[in-house]
Amino acid sequence: MIYTSETIDKTVEMFSSLPTIGKKTAQRLAFFLLKQDEKFVQEFAKCLIDLKKNVKLCSVCFNYTETDPCPICNSPKRDRSIICVVESPNDVFAIEKTNEFFGLYHVLHGTLNPLENISPEDLKIIELIQRLDNGVEEVVLAINPTIEGEVTTQYIVNQIKPLGKKISRIARGIPVGSDLEFSDEATIIKALQGRIAL
Ligand code: ZN
Repeated sequence: MIYTSETIDKTVEMFSSLPTIGKKTAQRLAFFLLKQDEKFVQEFAKCLIDLKKNVKLCSVCFNYTETDPCPICNSPKRDRSIICVVESPNDVFAIEKTNEFFGLYHVLHGTLNPLENISPEDLKIIELIQRLDNGVEEVVLAINPTIEGEVTTQYIVNQIKPLGKKISRIARGIPVGSDLEFSDEATIIKALQGRIAL
């Protein structure tokens, strides 16, 4: 035990298991919560439990949602002829923020990675192909340009090409190796507008 309370020890350990949170920040968060009133902490804890309990994957696009299909798949305002394929729900959020894309999405939940044993069956690739009915005219690949992303893009292109759909990829406004998630809105808009046919 480092602290004078086992519960503080455990709380700091839990916080520091979160991405980007080091030991020092974890300690600051634990002490911050200790200073709050009971109601705040209860709401905070309930929110975390509800997050896990209520948020599921949309059975159409595999984005996070509380309703199935999700509000994007369900919206009559969205253009059903175009599907944007992304790696993660973070990317949907980044593109939605630009207010420039009005089609539907498909979230793969990762990229192909032989070293980590991630094969096509581990991603939502079969589900993507199954969605490509007559109403879909174009598939836009917005997969990050990492080595794994490139392999994934190529794999999907090979799978979709025989179906005769238009395939494009977002332009290289996004610097190589960086994530859509961390790109500014103007860069994402340019990348979408300048998409390249494959
Ligand atoms: Zn959906």
